[in-house]
Amino acid sequence: MPRAFITGITGQDGQHLAEFLHGRGYDVYGMIKGQNNPRASKLQEEMPFVELISGDLADLPSLVAALQQAQPDEVYNLGAISFVALSFSQAELTANITGLGVLRMLEAIRMVGGTRDNPIRFYQASSSEMFGEVRETPQTELTPFHPRSPYGCAKVFGHDIVVNYRESYGLHASSGILFNHEGPRRGIEFVTRKVTNAAARISLGLQHELVMGNLDSKRDWGYAGDYVKGMWLMLQQDEPDDYVLATGETHSIEELVVRAFGEVGIDDWQKYVRQDPKFFRPAEVDLLIGDASKAKEKLGWEPEVDFPALVKMMVENDLALEKAKAGL
Ligand code: GDP
Repeated sequence: MPRAFITGITGQDGQHLAEFLHGRGYDVYGMIKGQNNPRASKLQEEMPFVELISGDLADLPSLVAALQQAQPDEVYNLGAISFVALSFSQAELTANITGLGVLRMLEAIRMVGGTRDNPIRFYQASSSEMFGEVRETPQTELTPFHPRSPYGCAKVFGHDIVVNYRESYGLHASSGILFNHEGPRRGIEFVTRKVTNAAARISLGLQHELVMGNLDSKRDWGYAGDYVKGMWLMLQQDEPDDYVLATGETHSIEELVVRAFGEVGIDDWQKYVRQDPKFFRPAEVDLLIGDASKAKEKLGWEPEVDFPALVKMMVENDLALEKAKAGL
């Protein structure tokens, strides 16, 4: 059985990827940080097949020990301080985990190595946030980076160091430049889930307003379940490389709000939505739209869930969850 080691296992993508790899017959190992991590017990209940190993992206020896224990064929580095807004207030932590964490994992892979005939393959979760103030539209693997947040800057370092280790040491290391990808497992702090959850709660009379930041920015939103397949496909190639995964469509935050409220039958959404400067960012990424032609051509990857289906899926999930919580 092939063996996979995933950092960020308790996050949205970690869970989707663990399920996907388990379905393909992998032994799945997930890295967990801290003591008594409450997210670990929840994950074990939902996915008992995942073997948890303790480790921290801030601590190289722990990464080496974790790899020695898991003996993986494939490492997926999904762990990060991943929320752009938080990265402004905890910039140093973001640089350390989201940026230097990649370097530590690459060093750990060099040290543990896998076997000579079967070297460890590495996937890095790069991000469309690296494009930031976009230099061209749509964005491809060759578009220059201009990050607009400490998170984006840390991801650029992670991306560049993967390329450098690939070129310097011949590692099988690939980066997926993933545009925003969402789903029912998205954390409530991200805009899609915040909006779908609020629409559900407002329609059930459990909440009366939704307080938002900038409604004008545009994102290329896909479904996380589609994107983890792309990660895996990258590691099945003979040669490591970098690939954009995106839908090629962009929608504004306002369109997201209109559609989510529409799903619960509310047309006069303006009655419920208020803007507050506290949700605006010091620097904004105004427009993202990706060109995934290379992934389509070389990996045969194609997103299956479009924007309307994604919003519908998330609203339906939030309606069911909120009804169950409120005993409705
Ligand atoms: P990001 O693309 O990784 O920053 O993903 P987010 O889901 O956190 O934010 C997407 C966009 O939504 C950004 O342009 C935010 O400024 C915008 N936005 C507007 N209001 C909100 C809000 O209340 N919460 C969040 N998270 N984002 C918001």
